[in-house]
Amino acid sequence: MRHAEPDVVIVGAGIAGGALGTVLAGAGFEVVLLEREKSYPDRVRGEFMAPWGVTELAKLELLQPLRDASALFTRRSVPYDENFAPAEAEARGLDLTKMHSEGLGGLCLGHPATCAIFAQLATAAGAILLRGAGDISVTSGSRPLVSCTYDGAKFEFQPRLVIGADGRNSSVRKELGFKVNADEPRNLLGGMLVKGVPSWPRDMQVIGVEDRFHFLIFPQGDDLLRLYGSYHFAEKARFDGPTRRAKLIDAFSKLSCVPYAEAIAASIPIGPFNSFSNEDHWIDDPTCPGTVLIGDAAGHNDPIIGQGLSIALRDVRLVSEILRDAKTGRRGPDFRPYVEERAERMRRLRITAQVVTTLRVEFGPEERKRRARVGKRVAEGQLAPLPASLIGPERLPPEAFLPETIERLLAP
Ligand SMILES: Cc1cc2nc3c(=O)[nH]c(=O)nc-3n(C[C@H](O)[C@H](O)[C@H](O)COP(=O)(O)OP(=O)(O)OC[C@H]3O[C@@H](n4cnc5c(N)ncnc54)[C@H](O)[C@@H]3O)c2cc1C
Repeated sequence: MRHAEPDVVIVGAGIAGGALGTVLAGAGFEVVLLEREKSYPDRVRGEFMAPWGVTELAKLELLQPLRDASALFTRRSVPYDENFAPAEAEARGLDLTKMHSEGLGGLCLGHPATCAIFAQLATAAGAILLRGAGDISVTSGSRPLVSCTYDGAKFEFQPRLVIGADGRNSSVRKELGFKVNADEPRNLLGGMLVKGVPSWPRDMQVIGVEDRFHFLIFPQGDDLLRLYGSYHFAEKARFDGPTRRAKLIDAFSKLSCVPYAEAIAASIPIGPFNSFSNEDHWIDDPTCPGTVLIGDAAGHNDPIIGQGLSIALRDVRLVSEILRDAKTGRRGPDFRPYVEERAERMRRLRITAQVVTTLRVEFGPEERKRRARVGKRVAEGQLAPLPASLIGPERLPPEAFLPETIERLLAP
């Protein structure tokens, strides 16, 4: 058995783990990263980062490496919708560059590529990364214990702190018995990467509704697009079975409100079609002695509003600041500011996701009218939680998330 006593062991070298490993190793911490995968597969997730997440990247000094890796920036978000003609939807498009101080808009880069960049940065900064680590077990306490197998050998670590960054099905969270709150699954969200759509404007993303289908389209590099569709559980069969990838392309090709539907009809799938149930999961306090959870492991927002990357990076910033301050002050870290900020951030994003679900994944003639009505109200400046998903939840007043505000917003 090999034994080591680093400052920090991070379980999971995905978005949150890789970014935190980079920042902490760069600040002089001894970091060990334990990653289950030898290479990052396309899990169908996390390919659009909201403008407020781009600001977090900049604060962490991680923006430039993603720019160097040819990340795209979507400057406009167009709400193609059965309620308006395409030209009107384009005129109603949101200018994403105005949503944050960097003025770049949303960032689009593949999830596997982003994880690989962060992993490479972490090792370049001095972190030790064990890819393909298995049988990871964590015991909490003032000197926590982590064991794993790697390359046929058994390893044991006794760090000062364990960070659980192992995603939405976190085994650290399960093993340490954290209580996870969850609301009822609301609908399904499935996605797939396609190639062969060179005509798609690379600075444009689309979020719209037609018939019984809420769709999202994010450009990736070259001629690639990430297609997402959200639909009701009762319509699961619509995108099920061995031909589900063709079924998804077919659904997009039939969208009469999207001018590029024909181009998408000719696209070729280059990844799996995976579908997930949409709901929020949260933990009241994602810390216990010697352990802190970050990213999806600490609870995830409903992906319908694409916040997970930004949430993970905010977690990384707050936790790394606390650890750096503790190191400078030669005292133990106090994670209360992280716990409190995260609880309120996730509460606000939960409310935002619920309103978005009501607006975009409830279908029918009345719902269609409501969507148009609410869009007009928001454009006229009525208070709503919706901008939280672009500018960051803390930049809206608390009243934006009150039940009476939402009632007024959705009222007939
Ligand atoms: C369908 C869908 C679409 C989404 N779209 C968006 C979007 O457009 N924008 C957005 O911001 N967010 C989106 N998200 C959410 C986003 O992908 C996640 O919130 C984000 O990836 C969280 O980062 P993370 O590091 O916590 O987890 P992950 O990125 O999942 O990384 C976790 C890492 O831990 C590793 N791991 C897991 N278990 C173990 C183990 N036992 N031992 C060791 N390692 C382990 C995994 O291999 C992985 O590398 C989407 C999610 C879904 C499901």
